[in-house]
Amino acid sequence: MIWDDLDLELAKRRDQGLLRTRRTLQSPAGPHAIVDGRPLLAFCSNDYLGLAADPAVAAALADGARHWGAGSGASHLVSGHLEPFQQLEARLAAFTGFARALTFSTGYMANLAIVPSLVGRGDAVFADKLNHASLIDAVQLSRADHVRYPHNDVATLERLLENSTARKKLILTDAVFSMDGDLAPLTELFALAERFDAWLVVDDAHGFGVLGPQGRGSLAHLGLPASPRILLMGTLGKAAGVSGAFVAGTESVIEWLLQTARPYIFTTAASPAVACALLASLDTLASPDGDTRRAHLQALIARLRAGLAGTPWRLLHSDTAIQPIVVGDNHAVLAVAQGLLDQGLWVPAIRPPTVPAGSARLRVSLSAAHTLDDVDRLTTALAAVAAPAP
Ligand SMILES: *Cc1c(COP(=O)(O)O)cnc(C)c1O
Repeated sequence: MIWDDLDLELAKRRDQGLLRTRRTLQSPAGPHAIVDGRPLLAFCSNDYLGLAADPAVAAALADGARHWGAGSGASHLVSGHLEPFQQLEARLAAFTGFARALTFSTGYMANLAIVPSLVGRGDAVFADKLNHASLIDAVQLSRADHVRYPHNDVATLERLLENSTARKKLILTDAVFSMDGDLAPLTELFALAERFDAWLVVDDAHGFGVLGPQGRGSLAHLGLPASPRILLMGTLGKAAGVSGAFVAGTESVIEWLLQTARPYIFTTAASPAVACALLASLDTLASPDGDTRRAHLQALIARLRAGLAGTPWRLLHSDTAIQPIVVGDNHAVLAVAQGLLDQGLWVPAIRPPTVPAGSARLRVSLSAAHTLDDVDRLTTALAAVAAPAP
């Protein structure tokens, strides 16, 4: 039958240690999760500032629903563009320093919107090999040539741009790489974009809220200008703790997206309550309380890196909340994750195809909601798993 292939393929994945499973949480997002009735100390989430379950943000969501209802009723261009979205766009533009911003229901959709709106057949996208899956899909959807350069390799990118005869060029990169935690060389990429008259599209899913003054993101962190050739994409379900995404740029590029981007036009607007929650979350994110959260996050990162110095695994260079520990083998990484789980710690094992073959890893992600003691528990548990059996 037509579905027999599926069972074969699923069995193959199971044998290779590649089958993915979900765990159902019986607790709100946060370091202290309840799974199957059992408390686990979790290092899994992208809730970098601890805002996902923040009482003020949750209250803004509830108040927003009471005032604006649960749904928007239509797409933005029909009648679903309720006032909280308009306020959110204005706030995001001012916060990121761009002329205008447009919100999307998810970051995945924002990326699918940006690339096909700017380039098409006969054009070329120059993309880092470790870019997020949504950026890879976005290039395919655009039908532009997909020219991939080795991770953060500016010299190779320069050669590729020099040799390109494409009509329009677009440089596409994560700002903070989601499985490695390192930063893209955005200053150098911007210089190349200027030299070759290319767009520079920066996906700041993991930098927005975390890096830069007030958490304005990776561009602000590196002191880059709000240039008309830069499009900044930020997600609102990670450090901002809610859901959704935005694209910031000039008046005209944002207007162009609004007119042409199918993932913006042909979808129902998110709940207005989500926009209300985001306005509250941005209040905290940009406030002195946000600075305190970011400073605490940095202290946690330093503590983890110091505590891991004695373990046998390779720690990638990362100054962000994403702290991957490369184990290598798929089955080995599952064994380490299980060893941690046995001690009540939950750290996700990331395997191919999410990361390159042979680089399976524990993806430790830290949140301002963790304590220094939480991090010490993790390093102690890792040392116990690493110790040879007696
Ligand atoms: C999470 C993520 C996305 C997708 O954002 P969602 O809002 O979760 O759809 C896009 N790009 C990167 C780099 C991400 O990490």
